[in-house]
Amino acid sequence: MMIKENLQKIKDTIPQNVTLVAVSKTKPIADIQEAYDAGQRVFGENKIQEMVSKYDALPKDIEWHMIGHLQRNKVKYMAHFVSLIHGVDSFKTLKEIDKQAKKHNRVINCLLQAKIAKEDSKFGLSFSEIETILASEELKEFKNIAIVGLMGMATFTHDKDQLTEEFSSLNDFQKKIQEKYPKLTTLSMGMSGDYPLAISLGSNMVRIGSSIFGVRNYIA
Ligand SMILES: *Cc1c(COP(=O)(O)O)cnc(C)c1O
Repeated sequence: MMIKENLQKIKDTIPQNVTLVAVSKTKPIADIQEAYDAGQRVFGENKIQEMVSKYDALPKDIEWHMIGHLQRNKVKYMAHFVSLIHGVDSFKTLKEIDKQAKKHNRVINCLLQAKIAKEDSKFGLSFSEIETILASEELKEFKNIAIVGLMGMATFTHDKDQLTEEFSSLNDFQKKIQEKYPKLTTLSMGMSGDYPLAISLGSNMVRIGSSIFGVRNYIA
């Protein structure tokens, strides 16, 4: 395994203001421990149960990010420790996160997931749906969540023009809504195949799995 070397290579190429989320989904505890020993503290998982068992087994100063599509009925299992939820794509989910966070007397940071890919398979909100959520009166009642930014996943393609268009659209939208909602400072976009481009187009949080841990054995 080359986890330490892979991490270092990535850290050497990304600017200091960009947070590296090491996406450890499907990977064993030993791999995460190796990355941890190399100094990595932020990890991303896409299944709540898998994240909970890794949280239980690993050092408690790890920041766990949930990057996958959320099942509302499982939010309660991670509410005591999750540090950022990237994939929030409905008002109902925000409401559930607020309810569960309240039970633990915490404020859980959330990103709203925007649909920027042309593929139908990707989850996410349209820009106008995001504006509607942010403007809603009911949102003000949610004292136990903080919406700190936006997340997007580009189409799975090597077409640089298309990727550029998709990342730029989210960057432009974030800049626009930040005039009204200055707290939305995080822009989570970019994965192993496209993170340098995403950073050049405004990303300040990248979610990188296979370039750190190697290819996954199954699609997750
Ligand atoms: C798996 C996953 C990643 C990481 O993908 P890699 O191509 O392995 O870097 C990033 N974001 C999300 C939402 C993912 O599910």
